[in-house]
Amino acid sequence: PVVLGIETSCDETGVGIVRGSTLLANVIASSMDEHARYGGVVPEVAARAHLEAMNPALTAALAEAGIGLDEVDAIAVTSGPGLAGALMVGVGAAKALAVATGKPLYAVNHLVGHVGADVLAAESLEYPTIALLVSGGHTSLLLVRDLVDDVELLGETIDDAAGEAFDKVARVLGLPYPGGPQIDRAAIGGDPAAIRFPRGLMQAKDLEKHRYDFSFSGLKTAVARWVERADDAGEEIPVADVAASFREAVVDVLLTKAFRACADYGIPRLLLGGGVVANARVREAAAERAAAQGVTLRIPPLSLCTDNGAMIAALGAQLIQAGHAPSDLGFGADSTLPVTQIQMR
Ligand code: ATP
Ligand code: MG
Ligand code: FE
Repeated sequence: PVVLGIETSCDETGVGIVRGSTLLANVIASSMDEHARYGGVVPEVAARAHLEAMNPALTAALAEAGIGLDEVDAIAVTSGPGLAGALMVGVGAAKALAVATGKPLYAVNHLVGHVGADVLAAESLEYPTIALLVSGGHTSLLLVRDLVDDVELLGETIDDAAGEAFDKVARVLGLPYPGGPQIDRAAIGGDPAAIRFPRGLMQAKDLEKHRYDFSFSGLKTAVARWVERADDAGEEIPVADVAASFREAVVDVLLTKAFRACADYGIPRLLLGGGVVANARVREAAAERAAAQGVTLRIPPLSLCTDNGAMIAALGAQLIQAGHAPSDLGFGADSTLPVTQIQMR
């Protein structure tokens, strides 16, 4: 089926079109620049930007796919989790389209959408798979037995998301927002072993309750304290070493837990998704560990890792192919939709 997917859970207005597992269009407009001076995504600003970007994005996606709206078989939309006001814009647009065209509508889970992006890769991953999703708003470790029927949450962050930690540490180092790419650049030439920053929830005592959970707020504070102390002592801040050491701490925890899940469950497959997967060290270290542990690693292209409409369309197409009924138009945006709920009825 040809499915048009709409994504507005955070700062990206995404409209994607797929035919089954073939990507036809992936148009993304981001309001990131408007948030930069606030140092983080401002919900009201994001919602307004979605309103302005939605119609142009829809037109551009249809043009990119080279089809008319009449050739679309179904519409899929992110209905949660995410920023409530932002989600509502996408949900409203999708419902309007569905009503106007009479096409079925699928309200889907944003996080499962990130996993669904993989079906657009040339050869998609087998199930079950472990999936690690890391972005500015999420750090979740999933056990996906079946993309459209069975997703289990193994663990998630108990405080800051990994991307948020990158953004906050960048600020401490005087680097602009968003911090991830800045830290990546600053870390070039730095020594990842220069400073031993703490690894959250990795102690033996944490493993019982938080085996697959993450915590990055202690790490962020430790970096801030380290920089403050050096500053007070009149030392020059070794920015490259701090950035490399901080990045190493984040990557170490993320990958240790993800690969541990692969080992614990006897699942030699790992899928990575989310904006933080743009990180050069995440990719490099994941490839090393995957080779050492005999795990098949999947990292979709970056345009499908960050928030986008194509992954939502792809998940919609999978639901249709599995025979799932469309959602009832009565659904609303659910900012805290649990990852176990793949589709909203
Ligand atoms: P959501 O959490 O709903 O997916 P989001 O907009 O935060 O929304 P993304 O756009 O996927 O998600 O990711 C943005 C985050 O990724 C930011 O926190 C940014 O700092 C981080 N990021 C981007 N590039 C890198 C990088 N090279 N290294 C580390 N983090 C990065
Ligand atoms: Mg974003
Ligand atoms: Fe996302």
